Amino acid sequence: MSAAESPPHRITVLAGGIGGARFLRGLLIAAGPDSEITVVGNTGDDIWIHGLRVCPDLDTVMYTLGGGISEARGWGREDETFTVKDELARYDLEPSWFGLGDRDIATHLVRTQMLNGGYPLSAVTEALCARWQPGVRLLPMSDDRAETHVVIDDPDGARDTTGDPLRRAIHFQEWWVRYRAEPCAHDFVLVGAPDARPGPGVIDAIEQADVVLLPPSNPVVSIGTILQVPGIVDALRRTSAPVVGISPIIGGRPVRGMADACLAAIGVAVDAGAVARHYGARRALIPAGAPADGLLDGWLVDTSDADAISAVQALGIACHAVPLWMSDLDTTVTIAQAALDVADDVRQGS
Ligand code: GDP
Ligand code: CA
Repeated sequence: MSAAESPPHRITVLAGGIGGARFLRGLLIAAGPDSEITVVGNTGDDIWIHGLRVCPDLDTVMYTLGGGISEARGWGREDETFTVKDELARYDLEPSWFGLGDRDIATHLVRTQMLNGGYPLSAVTEALCARWQPGVRLLPMSDDRAETHVVIDDPDGARDTTGDPLRRAIHFQEWWVRYRAEPCAHDFVLVGAPDARPGPGVIDAIEQADVVLLPPSNPVVSIGTILQVPGIVDALRRTSAPVVGISPIIGGRPVRGMADACLAAIGVAVDAGAVARHYGARRALIPAGAPADGLLDGWLVDTSDADAISAVQALGIACHAVPLWMSDLDTTVTIAQAALDVADDVRQGS
């Protein structure tokens, strides 16, 4: 590197599936070629289906940035067929509610073979990304198995001896895909979390970043899951990089998906300001700059939520309103640029 060249701008993003992936498309352009973007991906949604290891959020990021995503569905491959799924259904093989497309299955076959061969998920993900060239370094939050389960009342109406509904924990995917998040979630449990170690490179990526971004991903079952891997919250609190989040809630609505059902379960209002309060401020206002117990230095809300700004700022979080609906690439680039601008303001102000 010559003296005239500045070092690459290191940006680390904690991402779920569709919201994270769409944001990253804009960020790649806003950040420009001199940036290195590392994505810490949620693996709490991962599941074994028909003997195949499926990583929905990692694949959504990889396919979206690699040009293979189904734009209409937001998951799985474009030009997809479902012949294998149909054939399995003719054997009455369960689970029949999870859509594995024929093209997509190739990804899961590669992944499963490599895992069975002893490779960690991080190495498998790197190998898959060699084909898709997503333009970011995609790191699983952990190589260890830690899967989100949802505590619900028994969907078949079973009751205990006192007549109360029996509670059952089902895999997040069963709740989300099979039941469309309709059964009231009493709790989310990341099974395996206490023993999960951050994946290789994850802690360094947070500690050595120039900027850390929380994209508009689900605060409970995407970012909330990543935050449960021991060590990740500490790294976020320790990093000298500003941490800036983008609200996944616009005008009291979860935009795409069913984040409202998840927020309700943890007692957080479906509201852009409430989500910021849930993440909390990283620095206390008084005494100025002292550590607080939250995660955010900055927060973007949609222009329709501008009335939330003063309450978020009162928490000690820099807050601005910009249009947050990622309707097309240009708008998404503008959102990503606004997040980087907030990070710059925070860095200069501190
Ligand atoms: P998932 O793993 O596929 O559910 O995806 P993520 O967790 O990354 O993101 C899902 C969340 O993204 C949804 O709950 C929405 O709240 C949010 N989201 C989706 N589209 C948009 C958008 O255009 N703008 C904003 N601000 N949030 C969005
Ligand atoms: Ca997900």
